[in-house]
Amino acid sequence: MAQLQPVRGTHDLLPEDARRHRRVEEIAFDIAGRYGFGEIVTPIFEFTEVFSRTLGEMSDVVTKEMYSFTDRSGDSITLRPEGTAAVARAFISGGLAQQLPLKLFYRGPMFRHERPQKGRLRQFHQIGVELLGVEGPEADVEVLALAAHILDALGLKDKVTLELNTLGDGESRQDYRRALVDYFTVHRAHLSEDSLERLGRNPLRILDSKDEGDRAVVAEAPLLADYLNDRSRHFFDSVQAGLKALKIAYQLSPRLVRGLDYYDHTAFEFTTTALGAQGTVLAGGRYDGLIGQMGGPSTAGIGWAAGVERLSMLFAGPVPAERPFVVIPMNQPLAALSLTERLRRAGFSVDQGFSGNLKKRLMRANRVNARAAIILGDDEWARQAVAIRDLDAGSQQEIPLDALEAHLAQFR
Ligand code: ATP
Ligand code: MG
Repeated sequence: MAQLQPVRGTHDLLPEDARRHRRVEEIAFDIAGRYGFGEIVTPIFEFTEVFSRTLGEMSDVVTKEMYSFTDRSGDSITLRPEGTAAVARAFISGGLAQQLPLKLFYRGPMFRHERPQKGRLRQFHQIGVELLGVEGPEADVEVLALAAHILDALGLKDKVTLELNTLGDGESRQDYRRALVDYFTVHRAHLSEDSLERLGRNPLRILDSKDEGDRAVVAEAPLLADYLNDRSRHFFDSVQAGLKALKIAYQLSPRLVRGLDYYDHTAFEFTTTALGAQGTVLAGGRYDGLIGQMGGPSTAGIGWAAGVERLSMLFAGPVPAERPFVVIPMNQPLAALSLTERLRRAGFSVDQGFSGNLKKRLMRANRVNARAAIILGDDEWARQAVAIRDLDAGSQQEIPLDALEAHLAQFR
């Protein structure tokens, strides 16, 4: 059965990986809760237009990476490649405009058909946030503070750099776009085929190209910063003032643009040098035009998403499983069964060796890293008691059954 392998670019999270993955998500979710973000869960698939009409027809995601198929009803369906368009769709179809401002957190699998590498999968997971309905730069500062806080809590403060840029408002980008088209037209001989196509439709996208020839041309391209109007410049200044007030370190990255079409003003990435070519762990920006463009009420928005696999690889600390107690019967299997269940209901994590002699069961207790063994020896049992063996200290003690919970609590 050659097919009994995961599909290329997908992976199983075996228990240890799954624990780490879950810990990363929980730390993020917990901190997001402190900032007032509540969870939203959208479907894993959407109508294809939700993504194709919003991410931009020239984006890598739409042109090369979407998992799209026609379902049995003849609808074109796409496995979600990212969260923001799906959340915006949910905002519109759920009529959430009455509840602004809204702070939403999501987590879950995303799907992109790209070339798998370390830190680059076809099914990966993101955590992300969206703050909807706040036009002012306070929102940008808050979602950036949240991102920095989560990365700090994961112990990544010294491993990541916040790179910051502004894409300005529509007017600024129009002026800039003209300058870019002029510049790239002069250098068109050195551009990749993809970028030549982008030149007509979305020249800004060329700035995000990963092609080496393109990158050499991009290195000398005009900078958006030189085309910002007053409003855009003032907005960006305010975002930076907020970051400084919160002592959040950042680097200005004048060539940072985001890969998707719907961004304006603030754009940012937290990058690392620790993951080879997959240097971006968390990325986002402001997208005031998105919801209106999708047919909803014009609504400001800003958010980010982070790859959980990349965060997990950077998150160094071990994530040990909870250490259980193990119940070992000598001759009272049913009593052991009900004692095990009693302790679980009292809130303890309790495992039961299912078979074998004392030695074998103790070996298994060590394998699951048990904290102590609760041994139902015949003599103790006759006295309504059990023997507790502390598996770290190697010592053993008789404890009356009615004092058992209180005694086990001391191991916590
Ligand atoms: P990249 O430049 O690495 O392709 P991107 O710009 O496509 O990233 P975003 O769409 O901004 O990425 O997604 C946000 C985050 O999701 C990324 O910073 C990364 O951590 C994670 N991510 C994106 N694509 C993948 C993938 N194929 N596998 C694993 N993680 C991913
Ligand atoms: Mg990508």
